[in-house]
Amino acid sequence: MAFSALRLSAPVLKALAEEGYEKPTPIQAKAIPPALEGRDVLGCAQTGTGKTAAFTLPIIERLTKLGELTVPGHGAPARKPGRPHALVLAPTRELAVQIAESIGTYGRHARCKTATVFGGVGQNPQVQALKAGVDIVVATPGRLLDLIQQGHCSLAEVRILVLDEADRMLDMGFIKPIRQITGMVPAKRQTMLFSATMPREIVHLADSLLREPVKVEVTPVASAAPKIDQWVVHVPRTLKQSMLERLLESDDATSVVVFTRTKHGADRVMRRLVRAKVDAAAIHGNRNQSQRQRALGAFKDGSIRVLVATDVAARGIDVDDVSHVINFDMPVEAESYVHRIGRTGRAGATGKAIALCEPAERGALKAIEKLIGKPVPVMAMPQDLAAISALEPEPAAQAPRGGRGQRGGGGGNGARSAPRQGAKAGSGGGGKGKSPAHGRGGAHAKAARSDTGSTKLEHPAAAGQPARHPRAHQLPSARTPSRRGRR
Ligand code: AMP
Repeated sequence: MAFSALRLSAPVLKALAEEGYEKPTPIQAKAIPPALEGRDVLGCAQTGTGKTAAFTLPIIERLTKLGELTVPGHGAPARKPGRPHALVLAPTRELAVQIAESIGTYGRHARCKTATVFGGVGQNPQVQALKAGVDIVVATPGRLLDLIQQGHCSLAEVRILVLDEADRMLDMGFIKPIRQITGMVPAKRQTMLFSATMPREIVHLADSLLREPVKVEVTPVASAAPKIDQWVVHVPRTLKQSMLERLLESDDATSVVVFTRTKHGADRVMRRLVRAKVDAAAIHGNRNQSQRQRALGAFKDGSIRVLVATDVAARGIDVDDVSHVINFDMPVEAESYVHRIGRTGRAGATGKAIALCEPAERGALKAIEKLIGKPVPVMAMPQDLAAISALEPEPAAQAPRGGRGQRGGGGGNGARSAPRQGAKAGSGGGGKGKSPAHGRGGAHAKAARSDTGSTKLEHPAAAGQPARHPRAHQLPSARTPSRRGRR
């Protein structure tokens, strides 16, 4: 099916052709026709499916037809200060910015005027943009409510309401502001709600907001991402950083998103990568808006290769060519795994998703495998890291997640302390080594690799013992030349 079959207008078709879009994605093919008719839409689709265009194209078309936009040659706009005709609610500022960018792109020949409204930055520029008159407001709920309460924005003329990533908005505790905001939008309107998952709360919300919606669903969560090669590496917490750095040496790891569970974890991983001369930046809620935008911009334009992110911050990441998603920490909720790996394998590309699973995270892995309905193939650790791992205490004796293995310093010797020491590889401060591995600066990737030849330790499989993971595959690119510092 071609876009022209969807009966989109010439200015929009022109913009899509300029973007190089050849045909609608499944969610677009299903959602755009009823949305153009003004029907309510309940979309179950995650990021990467083209859902943004599925609701922004009908917004542009319908507002244009309502005569609310400036179309070349069609006279002055009927915009009123602070009184938009369409409202899109999104969970994060990054997502809000990206939706507004998409509207700017697809609506560039229809000249939609869009304002973004989100917290964490001064409100004056947003107030000025609203005052200048807008067709569409893309907003996070909290700041929008503030501006409404201060009299800078009214929803009295909203004709089209969209809730994007509704499940995430509820996860983030936005249900009350959402109820307040939707209560201010006239009942006579079109409503579209998109959500990657459909838990009971979303079904309730949809029931109360939508009227006889057309339900469209693509890539159900359980079978998400057919173009993503998924792997899990079983690795002690203490070796995760080394394993990560090893994975980043692969030639095809051109654009990598690394997920951590906490903001501090993201910063720590990023700092260690930078020390290892990997171009990396972190993006999370503690960063201010301009820092986040800068990091995201640098990642998008390829000037940094690795973006370390927490789940919430990553929701707005819209980059087509993410080659790898690496779960440094396993997600607490299995569904977040699907969201995370959905950052790669986008727009028809193939991606790799590699999870680093420590013993304490096996339960999380099981939950993920149950959700996706299949086991995640196991990738073996490189032999040198496996040898160090063999020195690790049994899982029962492991520090809990986020425990001492992450903090650095502190007591301990042997392999468990090695990576912390190893962050300063070559310092030789690895403590009272009982093994060749940690005695030479520990498990840090570089140090450990150079030790491989001389170490007497062997991978259990190589030593004739059963491998810990019978389905284990070899790490494909553990021996590829280093890419460090290449940009
Ligand atoms: P989304 O799911 O809306 O975040 O979109 C994922 C990515 O797919 C975005 O980077 C879009 O630019 C891209 N995209 C959306 N629709 C199409 C299409 N019909 N053809 C090619 N790429 C698309």
